[in-house]
Amino acid sequence: VSEVPGQRGKHARPQGTWDHGFSTIKEFMVEWVSRDIELCIGCKRCMEACPVTKKHFGIGELNHATEVGTGVPESIKEFAWNCVQCGRCVPVCPAGARRDYMVLFIKHKLRGEAPRSYKRYLAIKGPFPGIPGKIGQTIYAMTQKRKHRGLARFMETLPREKTPLLFYPGCYVYVADVMKRTLRLLDHVGKPYAVLGGLTTCCGIPQLLHGEFELADRCLDALHEKIMPGDPSIIITACAECFEALLRIKAKFGEDFEVLTVAEYLLRHADRFPAVRVREKVTLHDSCRLARRYRKGNVAREVVARFAGLEEMERTRENTMCCYYWNHDLDPANHQHRVERTAEAGRKAQAMVCDCISCYDEYIKDDYGIEIIELLHLFEESLETGAGRKGGTTP
Ligand code: SF4
Ligand code: SF4
Repeated sequence: VSEVPGQRGKHARPQGTWDHGFSTIKEFMVEWVSRDIELCIGCKRCMEACPVTKKHFGIGELNHATEVGTGVPESIKEFAWNCVQCGRCVPVCPAGARRDYMVLFIKHKLRGEAPRSYKRYLAIKGPFPGIPGKIGQTIYAMTQKRKHRGLARFMETLPREKTPLLFYPGCYVYVADVMKRTLRLLDHVGKPYAVLGGLTTCCGIPQLLHGEFELADRCLDALHEKIMPGDPSIIITACAECFEALLRIKAKFGEDFEVLTVAEYLLRHADRFPAVRVREKVTLHDSCRLARRYRKGNVAREVVARFAGLEEMERTRENTMCCYYWNHDLDPANHQHRVERTAEAGRKAQAMVCDCISCYDEYIKDDYGIEIIELLHLFEESLETGAGRKGGTTP
């Protein structure tokens, strides 16, 4: 990133500015994308690495459609909406261009004509959903609070007291099984913590991934305001998108809190969990964001090594395959990709472990004939197993 235009050095960045000194995502993206169009040598490697469905178009055509103020042909529109922002196109580029950002910029240009599935996904997310969205949020929160009474106090509430540890589930406060599991594990660790969760606390990354840059900026700023009364030293989350948002907030506002995945945090307290083998053999699905972008593949492997035998997938860590969450099933090939991924997992192990809540959420929607679990299951099972259940043995 050192050659990024506009970079003024980490220490020169004024508070409240976006990456590399830009004050908004849009400003940053315009600069970045313009630079990348210049850098591109048209080798097509990004498109060869890209796993989503696309019609034929040339790189020159794609670059032209990426420029500020140009039109976007139908074939490229369809490709842009199919793009899941997986980042497979980035490491293969010999010129150092970010094709993922370039396609994201096309989404931004097209946001007025976003597909219905995109609009539906964002309809009740975030602190600024508009009046119909606000009504939808209220009804959704009321229904969920009634359904999951034990979790109701964490839904759409703001921690007011200072807290050393903030657990930020954001929107996934409504994924009840994950929430209950995480709270149980945090209670078991026994350190004081507060929870910040709800649709109104949405982190802004879903908006960013839909090309809604201005909205993403506002959500990130609003989340920062909600975090700071707690003045936490550590913020944890199990969602890869929330993780990214927290890192962006930290950089943008020069905050000194530490951002960890929940699994990373639990590993720091691993002595609180019995060292038992709870599964004979599992395989790991690395997420694009945590494993490829933030190189967190070791965290998942450290967790698995404590509690299970690991059989690696063919494509792992930075070379992982996407769960295809972020085009909301617009691409008809998504399902087949997931069938192939889980079939490989099934040949190798009895369960596929996901390191990110979005991947987990995507894979549990269908029955792929293999058990899908998240990393935190393994911690939880270690508490339940002792030395007996599921044929558990001391590793
Ligand atoms: S981010 Fe993924 S889906 Fe989007 S263009 Fe790159 S490789 Fe293709
Ligand atoms: S891989 Fe890089 S240089 Fe090659 S076409 Fe894609 S963006 Fe251009």
